[in-house]
Amino acid sequence: MATLALKNVEKTFGTYQALRNVDLDIRSGEFICLLGGSGCGKTTLLRIIAGLDIQTSGALLLDGEDLSRVECHKRNIGMVFQSLALFPHLNVGENITYGLDIRKVPREAQQARAEELLEVVGLSGLGKRPVSALSGGQRQRVAIARALAIEPVLFLMDEPFSALDAGLREHLQIEVKKLQRRLGVTTIFVTHDQNEAMSIADRIVILNEGRIEQAGTPTEVYARPRTEFVAEFMGTNNIITPSFTPGGDAMLDGVSLGRPSGDMAALEGAHKVAIRPEYLRLRPVSGDGSGLIGTVNFVRLLGASVETELAVGDRTIVHTMVSDRAPEFDVGDRAEISFDLDRAWVIPS
Ligand code: ATP
Repeated sequence: MATLALKNVEKTFGTYQALRNVDLDIRSGEFICLLGGSGCGKTTLLRIIAGLDIQTSGALLLDGEDLSRVECHKRNIGMVFQSLALFPHLNVGENITYGLDIRKVPREAQQARAEELLEVVGLSGLGKRPVSALSGGQRQRVAIARALAIEPVLFLMDEPFSALDAGLREHLQIEVKKLQRRLGVTTIFVTHDQNEAMSIADRIVILNEGRIEQAGTPTEVYARPRTEFVAEFMGTNNIITPSFTPGGDAMLDGVSLGRPSGDMAALEGAHKVAIRPEYLRLRPVSGDGSGLIGTVNFVRLLGASVETELAVGDRTIVHTMVSDRAPEFDVGDRAEISFDLDRAWVIPS
């Protein structure tokens, strides 16, 4: 188990700045997810931690020791990539013990470790199988076992499950999380899938254009996004900018959305607010001109809920509700929208 401190890490490729001012303290045994869209710098950061690339400036401290002094192969880091890079000419057991062989660990100890890990990843008895005779999910497990065989101080995974079907991916997410808990190894997992990050991370680090937008527990980044980017990235949010009047009303497009209570009641002027689709209500247009009116432009069933998308002026508002009834509104219908402002979150920046 190890702590890892990233101190103002920056990386440029030519004139392109892939990482900017990345500062992060990772605790011993923590499960971190680096989350962000394509090209935000996730893999670059992971490669720098692994020693496969070197930062342009800044420092990485593993248990307080400057990592730049430690060569890549001496960092004792276990890695699993999307392209698993299993050795096709070696069987399952030999793949798992490959790193131990290089470290000249005695054969019997290698054998014992392979058997232990095969059991850990649920592949007992398959040590002699060629890797070509395994399913995609089984190969993934071999890659995980191989990375863990060297008892790494850090366990890095780069989108390890993205090529798998949804059911298997979910299953392996749970398995990896349990395994990580059991072994207590400090883990950094790269993903672009917010649901994956939410379900496995102790802390999610959201990257955007090479910068950390926010680092927090899944609950923090979901319920208390610090930036509009995070609010939009972590599931669906309606971002609106009402004006708060001295009288306590939240006004949007000249219409009162209601009077929020709590901290929001003290606000004045325009503030950006994020509100989840489940905290909206739709009703038929009353005709008294009091409500915010939208026109339905899309309705879809999402298993347990119905999602309705409405155009309100030039913005899109999304509403969801449990689908125990048929949708009340159809494409082209007009509906009056009300907001449960006490469930909204004011975005600080
Ligand atoms: P994805 O989810 O698509 O894999 P990512 O967040 O992992 O994206 P990176 O692979 O870290 O993104 O790349 C970050 C940026 O740096 C991208 O714009 C990429 O084109 C650029 N980049 C990465 N490696 C190099 C390189 N060796 N030379 C030049 N540019 C690079």
